[in-house]
Amino acid sequence: MTNLVTNVADAVEEHGDNTAIGFQGSETSYEEFWGQTGAFAQALEERGIGEDDRVALYLPNLPQFVIAFHGTLRAGGVVVPMNPQYKAREIGHLLEDSEAKVVVALADLVPFVEEVRDDTSVEHVVSVGGDAEGATAFGDFLEPGDPGIADRADDDDAVQPYTSGTTGQPKGVQLTHENLASNANAASELIPDGVQPDDKSLGVLPLFHIYGMTVVMNASLFNGGAYYPMASWDAQEAVSLIEDEELTIMHGVPAMYNDVINQPDAEEFDMSSLRLCGVGGSGIPVEVLRRFEELYEPKLYEGYGLTETSPITHFNSPIEGRRVGSIGKTVPGVDSKVVDSAERSSADHSGGDEPPEDDEFGEVSPVEEGPIDEEDADLNEITGEIVITGPNVMKGYYGLPEANEEAFTEEGGRRWFHTGDIGYHDEDGFFYVVDREKHMIVTGGYNVYPREVEELLFEHPDVADAAVAGIPDERRGETIKAFIVRTPDGDVTEDEIKEYCLTNLAEYKHPREVEFVQELPRTTTGKVQKFKLREKGEDVEEVT
Ligand code: AMP
Repeated sequence: MTNLVTNVADAVEEHGDNTAIGFQGSETSYEEFWGQTGAFAQALEERGIGEDDRVALYLPNLPQFVIAFHGTLRAGGVVVPMNPQYKAREIGHLLEDSEAKVVVALADLVPFVEEVRDDTSVEHVVSVGGDAEGATAFGDFLEPGDPGIADRADDDDAVQPYTSGTTGQPKGVQLTHENLASNANAASELIPDGVQPDDKSLGVLPLFHIYGMTVVMNASLFNGGAYYPMASWDAQEAVSLIEDEELTIMHGVPAMYNDVINQPDAEEFDMSSLRLCGVGGSGIPVEVLRRFEELYEPKLYEGYGLTETSPITHFNSPIEGRRVGSIGKTVPGVDSKVVDSAERSSADHSGGDEPPEDDEFGEVSPVEEGPIDEEDADLNEITGEIVITGPNVMKGYYGLPEANEEAFTEEGGRRWFHTGDIGYHDEDGFFYVVDREKHMIVTGGYNVYPREVEELLFEHPDVADAAVAGIPDERRGETIKAFIVRTPDGDVTEDEIKEYCLTNLAEYKHPREVEFVQELPRTTTGKVQKFKLREKGEDVEEVT
C-alpha cells in the first residue's frame, strides 16, 4: 500500500488503544492521534487548502509536528519540512520556492516567518507552544471533523524536503507517497519480525530530515508502535528516556553514539532494552562502533541513504548479517551499483534474497582493506560513484530541470540516481562508502579521502572527535588539516598526531596541520560542515 496516510489508518484500526506518541510523560493513543490529524486536515480544508498545496513545518520534534504532518497528507497537501535552526533568510528561499500557503511554526520562530512573509504565498501561520503576532495558535486552528483521507495517487507528491546538494541554494526534493511509504515499509522489514506494535522508538533524529521522518516516525506509525519525540539532542536525556520507558529501537547519527560513549558516566548506562540500534547519515568510525559495543549489549547496524532516496538504500541488517565498516547490502526492492566517471558499470546489486552473512567484526574497513588506494591499478574497475534505482527514488528536484538532468542517467529502461558518493562493494554485495566525491582532497597530485585519515584519528586514545579537510596551499594545491577534539584527559600534541599518522599512513596522507578544537561544526543531522573547516577553522572555537 503506497498512500502514507492509509498505512497509518490501518494501524489506527488495528491498534487504536496503543500509544502512538509518548512525550514528556504523556501518551497519545492511535485513536486520539487520528482525531487530531482529522482536526488538522479539516482546518486546512475549511480554509481552502487541499490537493498539492504546500504546508511548511518549522518545528522541532514535537507531537504537533507529527499531527500536522499526517493532517496535511490526509487533506491531500504536501509537507515542506524546514530546519528549526534556520533563520529568516534561509526559510525565505524555501517558502518562496515551494509556494507554501501555510506555515506551522514554533511560536519563537514566527517572527522569522513574518519577516519574509510579504515575499511569499503564505496565507496562514500557525504557532506552536504559545501565541505569536500574526499567527493562530495551534489549538485554535484545529476544526472538529472527520474528513476522511484525500485520494492521492502513488506518484503524487507527499513531502518536499530541501537539500543543499553540492552547490548553490537548497533544492526541493519531490518525494511521492510511493517513495516514502515503500521506504518506511522497507525500514521496518530490515529488523527481525519488523517493527512491532509493542516497539517503542526513540525520536531524536530531527523530523525535518528524511531519516527521522521515514525510518523512525513513519516506520513506527505504520506498525502500531510508540514514537517518543525529543525536541533536541542531549545524550543524558536520551539515555534516561531509553532507560525509563524501556525503548526498543534507536536510530541516530554517528555523532550521537560518539557522544553517548564519551559521557563521564557512560559505563553506567543501561541500553539493554534496545533491540535495534541503527546508525547512518554519515559513516560511523569503526572505533566508535567498537567502543559502543564494548560498553553495551545492543549492536550497531549501519545504513546509508539520502534525502533523494527517501532515504534508506543500504543497511547492515540483523537479518541479512553485517560487516563492520560497510554500509550493508542494498535493501529489498532497491537496486544499486558502482559506476566510474565514464558511467562504466560493475555488477548490479539488487536487494533481497542473499544468504545471511556472519556478524564478524571483520578487519574490513573502507580505508584499511578496501581497494581504494591510489596506487591500486584496478581502482577504476571497482571504485566509483554509487548510483541507485527503485521505488524510493525521488520524482526529481522541484522546478530544476538542469539539476535533474545531472542527477539521473537512463540505463536498461531505468532511471539511475547519482549519489555523489564514492564507494565500492565486495563480492558478497556489501557496499563501502569511501567518502563524498566533493570531499576528496588533492594534495601534490595525490588524491586523499578524509575519511581514511579520520578513521585512524578515532583510533587514538586521546581523540574524542575528529575531522579532516583540505585547505588551500600554494605548493600542493591543497594540504591536509586535522581538526581534533581531545578527550577530557587527553593531552596528545600536534607533533604526536603527525607522527602517529606518519607511522600508519602513506606520507602524502598525513595531516601537515593539526588544530585542537572544543567541538566540530556539525549540521543538526550530524554531518561535519567541512566548508567551515576549510575556512581555516574560523567558525570553530580554538583551544589554546
Ligand atoms: P542527506 O540527504 O542529508 O540524507 O545526506 C545524504 C548523504 O549522507 C549521502 O550522500 C552520504 O554522503 C551521507 N551518508 C549517509 N549515510 C552514510 C553512511 N552510512 N556512510 C557514509 N556516508 C553516509
